[in-house]
This record gives sequence, C-alpha cells and structure tokens, in this order.
Amino acid sequence: MSFKSISQLKSLLDENKISIKEIAETYIKRINEKKELNIFIYFNEDKIHDQVKVIEKLPNNKTLKGIPIAVKDLFCTKNMPTTAASKILNNFEPTYESFVTQKLVDQGSMFVGKTNLDEFAMGSATNTSYFGNTINPLSKNDHPLAPGGSSGGSAASVAADLCLGATGTDTGGSIRQPASFCGVVGVKPTYGLCSRWGIAAFASSLDQAGVFSKNVKDASILLEEIAGHDQRDSTSSNVQIPSYSKNLNPSLEGKVVGIPKEYTVEGTSDEINGVWEEAIKSLEKKGAKIKHISLPHTKYALPTYYIIAPAEASSNLARYDGVKYGFRANDSKSLDEMYELTRSEGFGKEVKRRILIGTYVLSAGYYDAYYLKAQKVRKLIANDFVEVFSDCDLILTPTAPSAAFPLNEKQDDPIKMYLNDVFTVPASLAGIPGISIPYGKDKQGLPLGIQLLSKHYNEQEIFNAAFALEKDYE
Ligand code: GLN
Repeated sequence: MSFKSISQLKSLLDENKISIKEIAETYIKRINEKKELNIFIYFNEDKIHDQVKVIEKLPNNKTLKGIPIAVKDLFCTKNMPTTAASKILNNFEPTYESFVTQKLVDQGSMFVGKTNLDEFAMGSATNTSYFGNTINPLSKNDHPLAPGGSSGGSAASVAADLCLGATGTDTGGSIRQPASFCGVVGVKPTYGLCSRWGIAAFASSLDQAGVFSKNVKDASILLEEIAGHDQRDSTSSNVQIPSYSKNLNPSLEGKVVGIPKEYTVEGTSDEINGVWEEAIKSLEKKGAKIKHISLPHTKYALPTYYIIAPAEASSNLARYDGVKYGFRANDSKSLDEMYELTRSEGFGKEVKRRILIGTYVLSAGYYDAYYLKAQKVRKLIANDFVEVFSDCDLILTPTAPSAAFPLNEKQDDPIKMYLNDVFTVPASLAGIPGISIPYGKDKQGLPLGIQLLSKHYNEQEIFNAAFALEKDYE
C-alpha cells in the first residue's frame, strides 16, 4: 500500500477502507525495511501501537487523524526521548510536549518516530549527528548520498515513504536544502509564525519550525495546523492564520516575480541554472510578469549568518552543563572539571566549533567588529527584501547550488559545507517565508529544488505559486 497524500489517506479512512491499525502496521513495516538508511534516532513499535488506541477514539473531523508524521529529534516530545542528535542529550526524556508537536497530536497525528539531524541542527548534510549519518533514500547502488541537513532525517523520511509529513526546523536553510536534496516539498514559514516553545534552541532569532511533505497541498495543510500564537514564545506572532489549503489558487495572472541577479553564483551547476530558467518560463506562460531585480547585500549574507548563528548558539548551548539535562561526565574532581569534561565529551566537533566562534565574536574587544557589525548588515539584507517586495509578489531562486552530494564530501571542510547555504540564508536573516519544491532532475536523475520567497506572513502567495509550478511535473 502506498499513499500519495494526506487527503487521499484521509478519504480512505473516512470511507472505512483502511483502519488506523492498518496504517500503523503499513508504516512500521516500511520503516523496518529501510533501517539501513538511519533515518530515525528513535523508533519504537510499541509507542506507535499505543497511539493507535488513542487515535481510534478521536472524532473523524480531526484534520490529521491517523496521518503518519515523523518528528525531527529537536522537538521535545513527552512520550519519546529527545536528543538533538547530541551525546549531551542522550536519553533525555522531556516532561513536556513542544507547541508544534502538541498541535499535531491534538489533530490526531500518529508519530512514527524521531528523525535524525545534524547535532543541534548545525550542518547541511546530517553528518554531524552523534547517531551517525542518514543516507539519502535516492542514493543508487554503492554511492551513498547525503540527504542534506540539518533536517535530513525528516526530508528522507518523506522521500522514503516512511510517513506522509514531517516536522523540521530551519535556521539558515535546514528545511529547504534537505527538501531539495531529497525531492520533497519543504516550507520555512515567516519567523514567528510557529512557536519555538519546546524546540531545542540553536539560534533563537533565526530558528523557525516548518514542514516536509510529498506535495504542496499537504504542506499547506500541515503548516496551518502547526502555526499559531503561543504566550510561551515571546517572538511568536498573533496574526490570524488563514486556511492555506482551502485558499490554494494556482492562478498567477498578473503576479510579479523577481529574479535576483545575485543568485547566479560561481560553482552552481548548469543544470540548476537550467531548471531555474525553465521555472521562469513556466511562470511567464502562466501569466506572471518576470522582473529582474537586485538584492545588493546578498553577498554578505553567509558571513553575517556565520557570525550571528554561532553567537546565539554559544549562548543557548551554555545550559548544557551536566547539571540539568542529559549526559554528565564521570570522575570529575570538582564542579568546574565536571562542566569541562561534560561539555568536552558531550558535544561533537562542529558544535564545539560553533561555540568557539560564537564566544569569540561576542567577546569584549571583538563584539563591535563582528557581532554588532553583523547585526547592522542583517538589517541591510532585510531591507533589500522589503524594497523588492514593494513591487514584487514573489522571488524565485534555486534552493541549493548543487544536487545531493556524496555522503562524505565536504565533511572535512566546514567552509565548503557552509557555502551550501548560500541561497537559503538571506531569507532566514530577513525572517521571510520560503518554500522549496522539486523541479526537474539532473543528468544522474537526482532531484533539483527551486525556492519561492515572499514577504512576511505571505505564506499563501508562496503556496499558490508552488502549487502552480508543481503541476508542471504531475
Ligand atoms: N546549514 C546551516 C548551518 O549549519 C543551517 C542549519 C539550519 O538551518 N539549522 O548553520
């Protein structure tokens, strides 16, 4: 049995053609068959069966009743451990449910497990996880590919048909880039649309929850369920959440789509520039007006991001000291030594690198030159978008400069890895919404993603355009 979409599975349930138990059994079997891809950090059949009993009793009008969902292991979940893919949180059992996962539970979703990610969401290949790499399900024969990251497990779980939707977080591209690598849809909403409460923090002014799905409609259904105001996150917005899925409208007549010249960067493959070109033509054919635009501060986005994100991370990760949560090193002779050993043994290499960079850019003497300067540049980057959106409805760009790369490529070169975020980071710094949808393939048959951006809280606009473009490949 294979299910194409949330709506399809929902109708089968409504018509009594399938039971919640059968859904659970179908997905348990599939997950067991794909164990070698290392997509899940936590998978427990009994926990799924326990949920079946609860979900069966729910009324049928629950939007996500019985829908199998995978949860990035950065979201705290009450009934499953939460590790952030770090040794330092190994076996941590939160006593509370994150805002986003609670919303999904309330609508009847069935959590199939907790997905692998880069440690504390720092990475672009799901290879900094304490629990080992995730393998991209689209890999062929003996050539394992990276699923992208940091939400690589979530993207891979949808691509491998192990669920119909997955949660992710995106700080600098961690939903959009793995979506592109795995050939699925990934949405990063406006900063503040979903509460961050109960998500292990990486860089709080950038972190945002979002979703992965097989198609645009499912993404719109999932996002409208997880969005919403929450008093426990002071940056969560109280805008009215529209019914994105009911309002989906593929008409692009009269829409103005900006094509930023700064997104033509050296090193991007011709095939990626090719699909970008095709998407532009398709938008034109559908009635949109194409406008060539400039976002002049784009070139500063990566260095700005790689100052601000580590700065915030160094502060956020100070809480992991062996006292309050998770792992504690043995055999220390003093409290200071306990902190030191716990953090040395508990964090992986990339996380330590970020803590060191972050501490450096925040230190007295360097704060003004790095952190404060980066904040000012961030504002200029955000202003570029505000200006462009005064006469554009959307911006279209590639999602990533390459298709999925081999598993161990770039592993030893952090700068090469950071360059992967070149097209996703600007929107993160500006806090605007973005979606990545698969659009064509390269010569090896690997999916390539395109990214649509719009102004704050204009998720409907990106869903509509993505819905229209998706039809080119149906
Ligand atoms: N790849 C980026 C980083 O390593 C983005 C990660 C993310 O969005 N969580 O910081």
